[in-house]
Amino acid sequence: MAVESKELNERLQSLHRANELKLKAIPYMNRKEKIPTGFLLKDEYLQSRDRILTTFKATLEDWENWHWQMKNRITDLQILQELLPLTEQAAQDILEVGRTYRWAISPYYLSLMDSSNPWDPIRLQGLPRIEELLDLTGEEDPMGEAFTNPAPCITRRYPDRLIINVTNLCAMYCRHCQRRRNIGETDSHETRAQLQAALDYIRANPEIRDVLITGGDALMLSDLTLHWLLEELHSIPHVEIKRIGTRVPVTLPMRITDELCSILAQYPPIYINTQFNHPKEVTAEAKKAADKLISAGVVLGNQAVLLKNINDTPDIMIRLNQELLKIRVRPYYIFHAKHVKGTHHFIPKIENGLDIMEKLRGFTSGLAIPTYIINAPGGKGKTPILPQYLLSLDDEEATLRTWEGNIIHYPNY
Ligand code: SF4
Repeated sequence: MAVESKELNERLQSLHRANELKLKAIPYMNRKEKIPTGFLLKDEYLQSRDRILTTFKATLEDWENWHWQMKNRITDLQILQELLPLTEQAAQDILEVGRTYRWAISPYYLSLMDSSNPWDPIRLQGLPRIEELLDLTGEEDPMGEAFTNPAPCITRRYPDRLIINVTNLCAMYCRHCQRRRNIGETDSHETRAQLQAALDYIRANPEIRDVLITGGDALMLSDLTLHWLLEELHSIPHVEIKRIGTRVPVTLPMRITDELCSILAQYPPIYINTQFNHPKEVTAEAKKAADKLISAGVVLGNQAVLLKNINDTPDIMIRLNQELLKIRVRPYYIFHAKHVKGTHHFIPKIENGLDIMEKLRGFTSGLAIPTYIINAPGGKGKTPILPQYLLSLDDEEATLRTWEGNIIHYPNY
């Protein structure tokens, strides 16, 4: 009898706690439905796609071909206006900004834009705005990458790993790009000779166990060059892992072809970090690209950039990270945007980032919680920023704050 009543009491307490937790979940569940995702907007995407194909007199087969997408990147205001209604002022601003900062949008990424909403998060990332010219505060190279460049194409900021910058080409020139100084006026890949010099540096430095191939967008390289580069890196005994930095799963998922995947599958382990910034970018096409990469043995992670008016609220970040987990892309970092010239209008307050981290922890799966990072100026490295959970620590105990705000004392002996 006593055992039964103990069990009953435990069950009643558990039910009470479960109800408390349910009440914490309900407000977000109600708000979540109002946050658009790529999957929810599938019909709108298909209509936009068909409209763009009609304008270009192209076929579905063309659409699926990444070379067609690249050849038809939208770089001309007149063509843009045929595809997306713009106010006269918005058109004038694009023309004006384009004289200083290049712009280009893949037809696929354009098809995700909401033609009726100037504040659409996809439009904000793809279309130039006059604010780019009004920012006189930022720097061209706040990371000081020019001073961490010990060999051609190489950036080295850490003891055991480095970056090879292989190209300045991207499927789209994101308006918030932190490397916009490299975008320049023309697209160009590094030469084989330059890449060879980078490989020679890596071979000569046995402490380098992790190499990140990036750009621009590393998957803008041809399959042939990528294959050669991966094969070379794979042949260096101390290179334990290869990483690829690319935004094509977001801006040009058709680049993830069977041929590319068959190359990637030959040189494990390969980690790909991409940059989804809004749940609208998580589409059926992005999922198809992720599925193919995962089948090739690639491990996928996401490095979002925290951007004002795009993803600087807890609800959008929770939805983004949950959508990413559904397509097997692990949220890895949230970067606080750096003070790059021409991007000031994208930079939120650090308090926004901390508030997001506070509302993620405990409220959703740990898997959906990336690390919030400020990149220290001058190439001094990534610095994690966390809400304060450890309130005090001495030889006897730690005082901690839980995700619900309970204060607890934890023994430290
Ligand atoms: S894909 Fe990356 S490097 Fe290229 S423009 Fe966008 S943010 Fe910059």
